[in-house]
Amino acid sequence: MSDNCLFCKIAKGEIPSQKVYEDAKVFAFRDINPQAPVHIVIIPKKHIAALASVSESEESILGHIQVAASKIAAQFPELKNGFRLVNNSGADAGQTVFHIHYHLLGGRSFGWPPG
Ligand code: 5GP
Ligand code: ZN
Repeated sequence: MSDNCLFCKIAKGEIPSQKVYEDAKVFAFRDINPQAPVHIVIIPKKHIAALASVSESEESILGHIQVAASKIAAQFPELKNGFRLVNNSGADAGQTVFHIHYHLLGGRSFGWPPG
């Protein structure tokens, strides 16, 4: 837990969210400003600021998040034909909340390259 971190508070239930998945290491909830019909934010319960600052000791939690993303995607029929998993690391990438998180997006088609 990092003081005054929005996503730490959401993971602890101190700030309400629409939870879609939780296990011992991961919490996932609907994005408040969805960019697709399905837009889920997946976070580790452990506070890590950004992908740019992970250490090798965090390798297992990063893998755990991807497996969780696959399980969550399987819950949504809208994602049966595909989904996108996005991490924004740092200001230039558009990161606004500095607790590492992955956007699980789907229910529409996406362009490439991303904007
Ligand atoms: P970032 O821009 O850092 O990659 O993504 C942060 C995401 O968190 C944004 O998509 C934003 O809409 C979402 N978000 C910010 N504050 C809240 C909140 O209080 N509740 C929920 N559910 N999502 C939030
Ligand atoms: Zn945090």
